[in-house]
Amino acid sequence: MCPPVDGTPANGSNGHANANGENGAPGNHPGYSAIQSSHNPHPHHKSPYQPVGDFLSNVSRFKIIESTLREGEQFANAYFDLDAKIKIAKALDEFGVDYIELTSPAASEQSRRDCEAICKLGLKAKILTHVRCHLEDAKIAVETGVDGLDVVIGTSSYLREHSHGKDMTYIKNTALEVIEFVKSKGKEIRFSSEDSFRSDLVDLLSIYSAVDKIGVNRVGIADTVGCASPRQVYDLVRTLRGVVSCDIETHFHNDTGCAIANAYCALEAGATHIDTSVLGIGERNGITPLGGLMARMLVADRDYVLSKYNLKKLKEVEELVADYVEVNVPFNNYITGFCAFTHKAGIHAKAILNNPSTYEIINPADFGLTRYVHFASRLTGWNAIKSRADQLGLNMTDAQYKDCTAKVKALADVRKITLDDTDAIIRAYHHNLHNEKEVPLLEGLTAEEKKKYIAAEQELSSEKEKRQLEETADVQAEVPANKKTKTVTVS
Ligand SMILES: [Zn+2]
Repeated sequence: MCPPVDGTPANGSNGHANANGENGAPGNHPGYSAIQSSHNPHPHHKSPYQPVGDFLSNVSRFKIIESTLREGEQFANAYFDLDAKIKIAKALDEFGVDYIELTSPAASEQSRRDCEAICKLGLKAKILTHVRCHLEDAKIAVETGVDGLDVVIGTSSYLREHSHGKDMTYIKNTALEVIEFVKSKGKEIRFSSEDSFRSDLVDLLSIYSAVDKIGVNRVGIADTVGCASPRQVYDLVRTLRGVVSCDIETHFHNDTGCAIANAYCALEAGATHIDTSVLGIGERNGITPLGGLMARMLVADRDYVLSKYNLKKLKEVEELVADYVEVNVPFNNYITGFCAFTHKAGIHAKAILNNPSTYEIINPADFGLTRYVHFASRLTGWNAIKSRADQLGLNMTDAQYKDCTAKVKALADVRKITLDDTDAIIRAYHHNLHNEKEVPLLEGLTAEEKKKYIAAEQELSSEKEKRQLEETADVQAEVPANKKTKTVTVS
């Protein structure tokens, strides 16, 4: 079993094989610099074939609008009282998000009071609130002390017919009225359509162009139903980039699993702001998760992400929110899932122990986490067992590590073994090397398991003998090592 990745430095007791020296923090391996791309052409290594930077892309200068306290409030399990909202807002601020978006103060009296209280915290992040494109809602919002308003209205034919029932002329006129009002109060204003990918392109571009002309700060594209693919996102954002001069905010739901990829493509196409929530919580199965976006962006531009965001806070922020909404962090979560930095296959373990960037594109130390080399399985290799024995303070020769590993693998073939079992085997093996009286490698095997193990061991020793014979024969025949053909052992 893999223990959780818990941010504590590797040591002999928690099963974390420390693959890299000092507390899981290796130096800068080439594998941990951002991948080279047209967005990040690595200008330090100039060559005549250097790609030209992509000037449309904002992959290296994006901003985060963190919407756990707005979109996240729409998550099925979410109920945030003021105390919870303040704790989450402070944690997000320490993480370094650019904006924190709050539920509309027009939603309820308590929502309005919460909004005012969070504005008074004096956070570094700008505070936004998300309101319908109604003058009345905007009037309530500007009085709460927020830095800006995110206004939204449905523009797709589905929403125009079945939700608010307004036509495009009405939508445009209301938008212009609300934007002029919010600007007159000295607040930032974003205008967004809802369900943008099922809206008519001509309608969208014409309304965005109109609001851009009167000085809106951002326009927003929202994949409200999670239907868009990365390529559709790229096309729409790129087209919009050619029409408006203001910033472009994007909001992606994850119904079809594209929320992170869509956010990334939006930035490539010239979007400037990405909406996220912690663990992706939101309406239905949510939106682009903050942690997943960080993983993606760290690989795209490590320097930018590290200079701006306090990644070591990620696990804490996620656990805080997970507690409030009573969910577990998924096992396969980006960065913080319990096996996100677990290496199991023997060949992976060996390479990881030599140089972690062989099988890791993200350095767990960037997030204050440690990797874990899984050694309690039949897939283990002797490098992993050696590393574990080192942690347990048991020294052996390489031949002994290999022999011990063969026994671990043989036992793992007989039954599923745990970390503790593996430690016990290593200890017993080491004990038997130095003591007259042998102890069993693993206590508590059933009669059936013992029988299977004895058979497995016999198989092992006959293989070993065969190998030794071969080696002796090689030496005697003086066959160059690279020319000899090994006997294939039938097991
Ligand atoms: Zn949403």
